[in-house]
Amino acid sequence: MINDRRSAAIRRIHAIDSDSLGHFIGGKAVNGAGQAFDVWEPATGAPLGKAADATEGELNAAVKAAKDAFPDWASVSGDKRRAVLHRIADLIIERADEIAAVECVDSGQCWRFMSKAAIRGAENFRFFADRAPGARDGQALPTSGMMNVTTRLPIGPVGVITPWNTPFMLSTWKIAPALAAGCTVVHKPAEWSPYSARLLVEIAHEAGLPAGVFNSVNGLGETTGRRLTEHPDIKAVAFVGESRTGSAIMKQGADTLKRVHFELGGKNPVVVFEDADLDRALDAVVFMIYSLNGQRCTSSSRLLVQESIREAFVAKLAERVARLKVGDPLDPETEVGPLIHLRHLDKVASYMEIARADGANVAVGGERMDGEGYFFKPTLFTDAAQAMRIAHEEIFGPVLTVISFNDEADAVAKANDVEYGLAGYVWTRDLGRALRVSQALEAGMVWVNSENVRHLPTPFGGVKASGIGRDGGDWSFDFYMETKNIALAHDDHAIQKLGV
Ligand code: NAD
Repeated sequence: MINDRRSAAIRRIHAIDSDSLGHFIGGKAVNGAGQAFDVWEPATGAPLGKAADATEGELNAAVKAAKDAFPDWASVSGDKRRAVLHRIADLIIERADEIAAVECVDSGQCWRFMSKAAIRGAENFRFFADRAPGARDGQALPTSGMMNVTTRLPIGPVGVITPWNTPFMLSTWKIAPALAAGCTVVHKPAEWSPYSARLLVEIAHEAGLPAGVFNSVNGLGETTGRRLTEHPDIKAVAFVGESRTGSAIMKQGADTLKRVHFELGGKNPVVVFEDADLDRALDAVVFMIYSLNGQRCTSSSRLLVQESIREAFVAKLAERVARLKVGDPLDPETEVGPLIHLRHLDKVASYMEIARADGANVAVGGERMDGEGYFFKPTLFTDAAQAMRIAHEEIFGPVLTVISFNDEADAVAKANDVEYGLAGYVWTRDLGRALRVSQALEAGMVWVNSENVRHLPTPFGGVKASGIGRDGGDWSFDFYMETKNIALAHDDHAIQKLGV
C-alpha cells in the first residue's frame, strides 16, 4: 500500500513534467526556458525532478495574463465566483489522496497529517466561496446632509509567495480568498516542494476558472520571487515565509508601493502552570512541536514549565519524545518524517553544537538518523536558559527547548523575550490567570488549554517579527480589496460660495 502510494505519486510527478517543471500561464502549461534546478525527495535524498526558474519574459507573461484577466474576473458576480470555488473544492476532495501522496513525497510531511491537509485545502475554498457574494458589502454611514456608503473592490492582480512546509494547504489559504474577492493571482511556490502547486492550478482550471485568473510560476526567491514583488502591475503581495525574506520583499516592493501581507516565523511559547491538566498539556506539547516534522510556523518550540512541576513533567515528556515513530512519511503510522532539504537538515543539526556550547542538556535525540534521507532524531533540550540562542532562534525542526519559570510574571517575561510573536499556548485551570497571561502575551493568537485548533472565521497572523496583517474571516478580504466611500449629498447642505 505504502509503496503503491509512493509509486503513484512519483508517476504523477513525472507526468506533470518529464523534463523539468515549468509554469502555468493564461490557462496553459508552458515549458520553462530558464535555468532548471533540482528538486530532491526528502525521505531518500534522491533527485525527484527538476523545476525551471522563470525567465523575466515568462514572469512578465504570467503577470500580463493576470492583468488582462482581471477586469472580467472582478466583474463576475459573487454567486458565479462562489460556484467555481466550490467546484475547485469538490475536485480537491476527489483527488485528496493523490494530492496528499504528492505532498508527502515532495515535502517529506507525513501521510497522517497531509491527508487531512488536502481536505483542509478544500475547506479553505468552500469557506471563502460562501463569502464571495458578500465580499463587496460595506456600511451606510449617514450624516444630516450626506449618505456615505462604503463598498469594497478587488485590488487587482496579486502575487502569492508560499513556503515549503505545508505547501498545498498554505497555497489554498492565500489563493482562495484572493479569487473569492475578485483578484487574479500569480503564485510562486517554494522551490524545494513545487509539485502540489501544479496540481492546484490544474484543478482550478478543470473546475472552470477562466484562463489567466490564476497563474503559477516556478523559480527561485532571488530571481522569480524578486521580479514578482517588484512588478508594477502586481498590486499586493501575500507572503508566507521567513521573517528576513519578508523584510526583503518589503524593500523590493517599496518603489511600486506594494501592499503586503506577511505570515512569518515564530518561536512560540507553550506555558504550563503547575495547576494545569498535565496529561492534556503533555499531549499538546508533544503534538505542537513534533507534528509536521517540527516545520510548522505555529509550533510551540519553547516549553516554559513551572519549576515546581518541571522534573516530573520533563521526565514524562522525554519518554514520549524518545518513543516518537520516525520513518517513511507515506506510512500512516509514522509520526515524524524527514526534514525538507539537506541545507535545512544542516541548519537544524547546527543547533546541537550551539545548545551544548551554551550549556543546555541534549536530553533526547540530538543527531541525524543513520541511512538515507534527511531524517533528524526528535530532540529535547532541557536545562536551557533564556539567554541561550536555542531560546530565541527559530530552528524549524523537531526540536523542543525547555526553560523553567517561577511565577506568572517570570513566565510572561520569558514568553515575551523573543523577537517573534505569532502564537502562544497557556495551560492552567485558573481562569483569572488564563485571562491575565493571554492578555499579556505578545502574540497574534493565543490558545488556552489547547493546541492550535483553527476556526476559519477567526483572525490568523502574528505581531513583532512574525508578521503584518491577518488572514481568516473578513480579514482576508480587507487585504485583497480596496475600500471605497461614496458620499451622496441630500442637496441641502450649504456650499461655500467663492468668487461671487
Ligand atoms: P523562505 O522565506 O525562505 O521562502 C518562502 C518563499 O519566499 C519561497 O517561495 C521563496 O522562493 C520565496 N523567496 C525567497 N526569497 C525571496 C525574495 N527575495 N523575494 C521574493 N520571494 C522570495 O521561507 P521557507 O524557508 O520556505 O519557509 C519557512 C518559514 O516560513 C519559517 O520561518 C516559517 O515560520 C514560515 N512560515 C510562516 C507561516 C505563518 O503563517 N506565519 C506559515 C508557514 C511558514
